Amino acid sequence: MSNTNLNTPLTSSQQLQLRSLQAVWHPCTQMKHHETFPLVPIVSGKGVWLYDAEGRQYLDAISSWWVNLFGHANPDINAAIRDQLEKIEHVMLAGLTHEPVVLLSERLKKIAPGSLGHCFYASDGASAIEIALKMSFHYWQLCGQPRKINFISLQNDYHGETLGALSVTDVAIFRETYAPLLRPCTHVPTPDWRYAETGESPEDYAIRAAAALEVYLAENHAQTAALILEPLVQGAMGMGMYHPVYLQRAREICDQYQVHLIADEIAVGFGRTGTLFACNQAGITPDFLCLSKGLSGGYLPLSVVMTTDAIFQAFYTDKAAHAFLHSHSHTGNALACRAALATLDIFEQDQVIDGNKVKAAYLNKMAEPLSAHSKVRHFRNCGMIWAFEVETDDPDFAAKCFQAGLSQGLLLRPLGKTIYFMPPYVINEQEMNLLVDGTLHVLDRL
Ligand SMILES: *Cc1c(COP(=O)(O)O)cnc(C)c1O
Repeated sequence: MSNTNLNTPLTSSQQLQLRSLQAVWHPCTQMKHHETFPLVPIVSGKGVWLYDAEGRQYLDAISSWWVNLFGHANPDINAAIRDQLEKIEHVMLAGLTHEPVVLLSERLKKIAPGSLGHCFYASDGASAIEIALKMSFHYWQLCGQPRKINFISLQNDYHGETLGALSVTDVAIFRETYAPLLRPCTHVPTPDWRYAETGESPEDYAIRAAAALEVYLAENHAQTAALILEPLVQGAMGMGMYHPVYLQRAREICDQYQVHLIADEIAVGFGRTGTLFACNQAGITPDFLCLSKGLSGGYLPLSVVMTTDAIFQAFYTDKAAHAFLHSHSHTGNALACRAALATLDIFEQDQVIDGNKVKAAYLNKMAEPLSAHSKVRHFRNCGMIWAFEVETDDPDFAAKCFQAGLSQGLLLRPLGKTIYFMPPYVINEQEMNLLVDGTLHVLDRL
């Protein structure tokens, strides 16, 4: 509010910003920065666009933190939620059930890789990670392997910010402050091809990273319950991308050493990497598949952990203590499940995965001036995710880029020096042109 003249009354939008800063503690934000950078009050959305109170519009190039798939105010998803609202909004899922959660579980089972026939629900991504970790640990306890209590993950992995999820996360800025609260976790070398030697192909580098995993597990498998990883794209550490051969090798190595493989597809599931699930590109089935974000089309908080019959059966006994005694109040929320079913309908009816291939090819072609830009390094694409590093010494680059994006009508939120696009799948050619042109302007202004 520093630029507000005290004599002119605040607009309603400015009042909302001010009240928000007084009453709302915003996520992942140093609140004091808002003395310089104003909040953006959004009043409505449609398709890829967000509208503020003054009628300015912003292209949501990051799908509102990677959740939105088919646009804001999608008429089909809106209609499904309205319909469900008139029936039952929510009931507890212990002792009771409802049609949306049954239908959703059956449909997820059909489309997920391999046979992951058992769906355990929660409300957000981090909770899904907690569930997968606890289930894996508990499974080994039930199977007479009480020493298998450790988890390993990839260097640079992100799995959420509750204490269990943060333990397996390797993003220093989120982790360091809370390190004394976290369980120890080994982060094995990332297959991210930006780390390859010059002349080494992404595939060769991924194979080399997998060899390091094998060395670790050869020695430590008896104490290791599971390897958790973000398949193909490591989101929060700057959209690091890697070759699917790593997933194949990781699956083989985990099988060889009796270690569970947990695939965190919270960000990459539902088509983001160009296939419905990232694991499809390696032809592998994890022991646990964690899904959230796009699961409900980005509409409502919903997550699920899908697992195999072998794991389910270990818990299936006459003893209460063998059960998986874990719950969240909104587990299997009916409105969220209906949003998810409507989202899956769109995938089926509109041949989204094929359509996205055409869109990705178009955006890659339009983005040639970006990838050739003198400040741009490592321009890369995987499915409906694009990313590149910007050559800059400015420690405030991300915040300035966010601001410069807004003035170009773009919602960009760089990760450090990495700018990325993760647009809703409904983006059209004209909007892709705006996205690329706007980003070029941002680069030239900074
Ligand atoms: C977003 C994300 C999470 C955490 O999900 P929340 O709903 O934010 O708790 C976990 N893993 C990955 C890969 C994510 O991108």
